[in-house]
Amino acid sequence: MALRACGFIVFRRLANCVPPQDNIEYLLLQTSYGQHHWTPPKGHVDPGEDDLTTALRETKEEAGLDAQDLQVVDGFLKELHYEVRGQPKEVLYWLAELKDPGTKVILSNEHQSYRWARLEDACTLARYKEMQDTLREAHRHLKTQQDKK
Ligand code: AMP
Repeated sequence: MALRACGFIVFRRLANCVPPQDNIEYLLLQTSYGQHHWTPPKGHVDPGEDDLTTALRETKEEAGLDAQDLQVVDGFLKELHYEVRGQPKEVLYWLAELKDPGTKVILSNEHQSYRWARLEDACTLARYKEMQDTLREAHRHLKTQQDKK
């Protein structure tokens, strides 16, 4: 059976951004293990736990952000597939806005650094194509929502 993990692509909107500069920044955490790759907060589903609960729990544990700090964005849910040490892993990401962009991120010992990055910087950090595609898809989703308003 595949390893299963769930998390959030967390973003914030900066105030005082002059168009055409983009005001959206994505949160990426740098692992303190392995090759120190950058990833949104996510983690393994505990036995009997539902996926969204896992995503919220892991975001709290890894970034110090509570459910009350986040506004989940409707209509976005993306599943990634890759192998970790020969075992298939599936990761489910919801998309959520950090309501107060000034909220402090508090890391656990699983991560050594974090960055708020605009889309292209976030894609460079994220490195893996599937993750880059997911960030781009999230960004398109937000822009489409914005255009409808
Ligand atoms: P993670 O799932 O982020 O805990 O990472 C576990 C291992 O999988 C690490 O060696 C990562 O470098 C690798 N990894 C993380 N994300 C991806 C991805 N999207 N595609 C392929 N490998 C990944």
